[in-house]
Amino acid sequence: MENTRNLTILNRNQTLDNIEATVFDLIVIGGGITGAGIALDAASRGLKTLLLDMQDFAAGTSSRSTKLIHGGLRYLKQLEVALVREVGHERALLHQKAPHIVQPKKMLLPIIENGSLGINATSFGLYMYDRLAGVDKDERRSMHTKEETIQMEPLLRTDVLLGGGLYYEYQTDDARLTIEVLKTAHKFGAVCLNYAEVAGFLYHPNGAIAGVKAIDHVTEKAFAARAKTVVNAAGPWVDAVRGKDEYISGKRLHLTKGIHIVVPYKRLPLQQAVYFDVPADGRMIFAIPRQNTTYIGTTDTTYTGSITNPLAQPEDVEYLLHAVNFMFPTVKLAFEDVKSTWTGLRPLIHEDGKDPSDLSRKDEIFYAVSGLISIAGGKLTGFRKMAERVVDAVVKQLYKTEGRPVKNTITHDITLSGGHFLQPDAVEPFIDELAQTCANKGLTHLQIEGLVWKYGSNTPVLLQLFDQYYHHRNSITPAQQLLLAELHYGVQHEMVTNLCDFLIRRTGMLYFNRPQLQNDVFLLLDELEQLLQLTKQQKLHYYRQFEQEYAAVMHFKKVMQEPVF
Ligand SMILES: Cc1cc2nc3c(=O)[nH]c(=O)nc-3n(C[C@H](O)[C@H](O)[C@H](O)COP(=O)(O)OP(=O)(O)OC[C@H]3O[C@@H](n4cnc5c(N)ncnc54)[C@H](O)[C@@H]3O)c2cc1C
Repeated sequence: MENTRNLTILNRNQTLDNIEATVFDLIVIGGGITGAGIALDAASRGLKTLLLDMQDFAAGTSSRSTKLIHGGLRYLKQLEVALVREVGHERALLHQKAPHIVQPKKMLLPIIENGSLGINATSFGLYMYDRLAGVDKDERRSMHTKEETIQMEPLLRTDVLLGGGLYYEYQTDDARLTIEVLKTAHKFGAVCLNYAEVAGFLYHPNGAIAGVKAIDHVTEKAFAARAKTVVNAAGPWVDAVRGKDEYISGKRLHLTKGIHIVVPYKRLPLQQAVYFDVPADGRMIFAIPRQNTTYIGTTDTTYTGSITNPLAQPEDVEYLLHAVNFMFPTVKLAFEDVKSTWTGLRPLIHEDGKDPSDLSRKDEIFYAVSGLISIAGGKLTGFRKMAERVVDAVVKQLYKTEGRPVKNTITHDITLSGGHFLQPDAVEPFIDELAQTCANKGLTHLQIEGLVWKYGSNTPVLLQLFDQYYHHRNSITPAQQLLLAELHYGVQHEMVTNLCDFLIRRTGMLYFNRPQLQNDVFLLLDELEQLLQLTKQQKLHYYRQFEQEYAAVMHFKKVMQEPVF
């Protein structure tokens, strides 16, 4: 049944009352991309679904990735042909269903002497990839001579360059993709709540799982939620959640850390994204232009520290700087050029004796005696198929226990929130049209473009808020008026609860637009106070939280300044 209410924090108390009064078919633990996909698949098959996340949605790995919807080139290197086919298909489908946040981007692969790929291997590999992944004709790979490659990317080093391959990857915003999937799940009736931590489980007398014990972190009150099935999609915390149900034997997670650094675009002004060799260890990394920045990543090292706050260390940053300076020798990037970082943890399945980069990215489902279903591994790109497999397992359990008829997934037919365009190439004309109608409000084409790549077909709703509440505030600039309208939209439609939700996961400002952020943080905080009726204490708490996150993205600098003795 379609839910006509918004995904908002404004009716949180009512949502909590409803949760306690309902027996759900399914509770999903974790609101990253995996849990969001499962909630959407389940709700659209008609299951009464609840999703809980202990932090904000996407606050785990799903806001800390390289932000690419891959076609699976890496899997081809490992000869995982079926997987290349699957992710290629998924990528094309996602572009259709959410064209505002899944866009094709040219990717240049320079081929160098003694690099990990030779000219023939690259040409053949990219050719196979195009065929297996069903890549559109006009996005198929092209191979280029050394001279052509230098013309495409004049910053590349020339002494060891042999040529280049040009192909397409799809760029996304991982946290926004997650929120759009959750908004769609909510439309199908899923109840989704952030800042609600699962602390334990409820059981039937026969030991079968009957729901969860949880804590609402807005009020710090405990509550219980009952359900017929429970799925653990807690990403890097999957083992911690499994451990609350049973003693874990057999397969476990192996967490690996990956960091990204962000530099001003003018310090690494690439003509397109580049996927290139790291000379030190034969790995490959990306450098990707985004707005006024270029971001570079990633690393891949075994991780055993705090799961909630993984941080980039000086040696991680140095590794990336060294790789960039090798491939683009004239730019001479230094620590001072790094304006922000983010750090994510891959929830991979442990395999004895394998290095982090060799561990499989495949997902795997674990079944506990209690009936708890856990899912780990996988990629952002494959979230829809992962969700399908998990909900198939849930539906089987419901069939066994209740004889419920089995329903198949319909997510291949679902357009995601914000993705309602006749076809993907209708996004650009939509931007032009909106920009024209907004020109007399002091809004530029660039600003409208920025909004549409975030909110897609929902942008007019946001612009209505701009007209209604902010357009005539003379004391602030049109850019600030627009920012406040975005905050208002976030509170009303995307369950923004505090400043960091908005600045990190709804807008990416903390990583990609720190200069504007410094100017506007108090304006945003005052507006949030009004919108959510915050107490002075809450306001201060949210500001302190922001300060911590602001410092965390530059943690490596702090470490570098600490005395050695
Ligand atoms: C550096 C890096 C780069 C990557 N790049 C790409 C890429 O470009 N493309 C791609 O396809 N994939 C990429 N990936 C992989 C991809 O990001 C992950 O596979 C994916 O985001 C994992 O999502 P998840 O939902 O399983 O985990 P998460 O996003 O971590 O979500 C788990 C959620 O569970 C919640 N949770 C945990 N415990 C509890 C509890 N007790 N109660 C309630 N909630 C709980 C957490 O708060 C968290 O929000 C990358 C990964 C990394 C680390």
